[in-house]
Amino acid sequence: MKGLIYDMQRFAIHDGPGIRTLVYMKGCPLKCLWCSSPQTQKPFSEILHIEMNCKKCGRCVEVCSNNAITISDKDGVKIDRELCTSCGDCVETCFNQALKLVGNNITVDELFQEVNKDAPFFRRSNGGITVGGGEPTMQHEFVTAFLKKCKKIYINTAIETCGYVKWKYLKELLNYVDLVYFDIKHMDPQVHKELTGVSNGLILENAEKVSILRPIIIRIPLIPGCNDSDENVIATANFAKKLGDNLQRIELLPYHKFGMQTYRQLDREYKLKEVEPPSDEFMERLKKLIEEKANLGWFDEFFGPREDVDFCLVISILNGPSSYGSRIRLEGRTKIYSILGAWRIDWLGWGSPKFTPSVVGTVVHEFGHSYCNPLVDKHMDDLRPFGEKYFPRVEEKMKSQAYGNWQTMMRESLVRACEVRYAMANDGEKQAERIADYHIGRGFHWTKELSELLGHYEKQRERYETLDTFMPEIVTLFQNYDGP
Ligand code: SF4
Ligand code: SF4
Repeated sequence: MKGLIYDMQRFAIHDGPGIRTLVYMKGCPLKCLWCSSPQTQKPFSEILHIEMNCKKCGRCVEVCSNNAITISDKDGVKIDRELCTSCGDCVETCFNQALKLVGNNITVDELFQEVNKDAPFFRRSNGGITVGGGEPTMQHEFVTAFLKKCKKIYINTAIETCGYVKWKYLKELLNYVDLVYFDIKHMDPQVHKELTGVSNGLILENAEKVSILRPIIIRIPLIPGCNDSDENVIATANFAKKLGDNLQRIELLPYHKFGMQTYRQLDREYKLKEVEPPSDEFMERLKKLIEEKANLGWFDEFFGPREDVDFCLVISILNGPSSYGSRIRLEGRTKIYSILGAWRIDWLGWGSPKFTPSVVGTVVHEFGHSYCNPLVDKHMDDLRPFGEKYFPRVEEKMKSQAYGNWQTMMRESLVRACEVRYAMANDGEKQAERIADYHIGRGFHWTKELSELLGHYEKQRERYETLDTFMPEIVTLFQNYDGP
């Protein structure tokens, strides 16, 4: 069996956990007005003409046995898409790389052999394969067979889907999928049809069904003037929230115009020419703010010195309003990420995120996770009695912040108390108190006790060289905690 792929990308760190190899299938049943990869839309190979490379030599005209290419002074090279059979002869003959064939036919075994070369990276990083497109379910038989082969050797698998596919095909595919990225473009069926060419009934039905079986991340491509109204974003978020515990998060994908020139190369019209992407101004503002305000040296002082750590700040409205911390071990160094979502969106300015000085606290919080999570995880068994007892009491508040279990609550508890200590060291007692009160209000009732205990740790650093060595004291606090 052969599939038609558009491209592959290695060493990707988005679109799923760990280091991933992304496989892009060709063909999509939707025609979104804003599609940034029009070369993946059609389910067959196509020729791109890259005008800036073209020397108008005419060799391609001569070689095309279908008379699909013409050349003139006025229009340059034109390809008649009706006549072109995508044989690729013209590509071979063009020395200037002005023609490109997109779409490779490949067998399941060939694709598997190719991605399996990256298996050592998957194992080391808990990464894997993500199949996107185009739309992977449009070639469901091929993708199912491919992912089945990947699962046989325990490779983590994810798909990115628009959800417009018969349930029986998607269900079969899900047997070999660990994580689903699911796009929702608009909640109104009629508007959805105007924007994408199809209604959203089947898509929303499938989202619900997928969420019963697999972890799901809902993605909303945020297109100014098309689907970025508060009303639609809230309606989508409300729909997503009802998907239950398998909903991992909602991501807002920012609009961009990267695909515009590909439309020209395919002789297609881009319909959203007038729509502008968000400006880069906010990135500069935020970068400056972080450089001026965040004291990253505090992490070494507080947790114990480490020489192998690089701090990496990612400003990403792909997260929607959520921020994340993560870490990755690469070439002998630990890269610690604070991935910032956009808390405030300047809707009138076409969706540019806005940050205030309080974002420094979020940066510290997210970096803090890379330090705190492994410490908490080491003692999770000892923390279980507290976690299981207290999580039900604050479950509603925790879940409203996307903390779905007691283990996550415990990791958050330590990070939040450390954040209070950061504020104490850098911004003064009043600010530390404000932050502690904020976390208590969010359901972490023990924040004051825990941050005070961390204050004792700070005073006894000759005895406790790192926070790791102090963790038994923290466990004891939780074991004896008797507050609200
Ligand atoms: S062969 Fe290449 S450079 Fe020459 S006219 Fe054709 S596309 Fe342009
Ligand atoms: S791909 Fe083949 S048919 Fe199409 S324009 Fe090139 S030579 Fe002609």
